Amino acid sequence: MSQCPVKILELSKERFNQSGYALVDVSDINRCIGCTFCAIICPDSVIKVIKNG
Ligand code: SF4
Repeated sequence: MSQCPVKILELSKERFNQSGYALVDVSDINRCIGCTFCAIICPDSVIKVIKNG
């Protein structure tokens, strides 16, 4: 997904919701910089970014 500045979000090739849309997978959570762009652009407001530590 182009909105993620570190390119760790991708549409799943194996997981889909009940409407048939691909879910989003995170390839490497340790590279997340916590910018919240993914949460801001999510049309269904289902992404929540939480800072650990
Ligand atoms: S919060 Fe993390 S996963 Fe979401 S867009 Fe920013 S870097 Fe990517």
